[in-house]
Amino acid sequence: MEEIIVAKFGGTSLADSKQFKKVKEIVLADERRRYIVPSAPGKRYKKDHKVTDLLYMCYQLASHKLNFDEVYGIIEKRFHDICNDLKLEIDIGEILSEIKEKIRAGESRDYVASRGEYINGILLSEYLGFEFVDAKDLILFDEKGHFDWEGTNKKVKELLGSISTAVIPGFYGAKPNGEIVTFSRGGSDITGAIIARGVDSILYENWTDVPGFLMVDPKIVDNPKPIETITYKELRELSYMGAPVLHAESIFPVREAGIPINIRNTNSIEDPGTTIVNDLSPIANVGTITGIAGKKDFTVIAIEKTLMNQEKDFYRKLITVLETNDITIEHMPSSIDSVSLIIPSAQLNSKLDKIIEEIRIYCKPDSIDTYPNMALIAVVGRGMIRTKGISAKVFTALANEGINVRMITQGSSELNIIIGVENDDLEKGIAAIYRAFN
Ligand code: ASP
Repeated sequence: MEEIIVAKFGGTSLADSKQFKKVKEIVLADERRRYIVPSAPGKRYKKDHKVTDLLYMCYQLASHKLNFDEVYGIIEKRFHDICNDLKLEIDIGEILSEIKEKIRAGESRDYVASRGEYINGILLSEYLGFEFVDAKDLILFDEKGHFDWEGTNKKVKELLGSISTAVIPGFYGAKPNGEIVTFSRGGSDITGAIIARGVDSILYENWTDVPGFLMVDPKIVDNPKPIETITYKELRELSYMGAPVLHAESIFPVREAGIPINIRNTNSIEDPGTTIVNDLSPIANVGTITGIAGKKDFTVIAIEKTLMNQEKDFYRKLITVLETNDITIEHMPSSIDSVSLIIPSAQLNSKLDKIIEEIRIYCKPDSIDTYPNMALIAVVGRGMIRTKGISAKVFTALANEGINVRMITQGSSELNIIIGVENDDLEKGIAAIYRAFN
């Protein structure tokens, strides 16, 4: 069977005509790149506006019967500039005024928000010489607005099966009555993944403006090494703790089908980026770590009670207190006579005193102490599995830096080590561990 690659380009990759040119170069460089999913034009520089944000603004103004000409004018200019610079033979003025009329007439929020992708899709298809396939005919939602996976998958196979190269706008689809529905913000990633799955692609490329995943946050370590391959499980651990590059939901369709995702940088085509794979042999990264992430502001509630381990209902009572106060526990390291609850401080707010009181009443502990301002460092790596010496290296690095380790847990999967330190030690700790492995 012929190999297919689905390539999704994010907002900054299609922010202006200069970026469009890079995208064309990328797409045409590999003829397996047959289905292209664009976002709406994003920021060209730090303080610039994303077209999607401007569209939401237009909707807000229009829904209050306020004049939105000025904001819409900025959007018009951006699309006109792209068309003029690339000499596209499209009546962009006509498309833009039709949409403006609909916004004025009270079209839905989702419809308005989706127009950035819609227009960008038309422009990109013309520029590449690919067919334009409107996402409303492909990405299906049911009457209630829930995504219809089966229907969509069938439609994608049916429609794209007979079109060799196409541009499909990201971020939206439609209900059976034609009403437009968008995914959540950043949702073009999801569209790309759905198409990649539907056409049985060998690879889902996600082109953005970063070099993929880095071993640590570049705000903590200068020029950290990029991660070349990462498994889905590792990614979940790392992105939970740090800033995600990908929309979380975009992973499921391709993960299930075993299609790797390759995150690439449109502004640095030679970089291999990061490939996210299903399951890699542990040998591939043996003896080392994949990445380090961290998060601040946890509170520890440390509870001690003699013979706690023999009290059958102790944990149930404890958990019930947290449940009734609507608190989730991040980690729960324990020893025979003590247990610590590690909870994001933001969840506790003013509830802490009440929770402590309730634990006193229900669990009758010998003591309860609380420690705020704790940070968690996650050292993640499939290469840690059954390799000796990794934790020695991690803890030596922390000790040499004079950092006091307040808590340690290692998941039974041996995929991560979680270390609790003072908030103030987080950056220093991450940098020290990074240096130990590089
Ligand atoms: N343009 C949409 C947003 O800004 C969707 C996307 O870019 O993926 O959220």
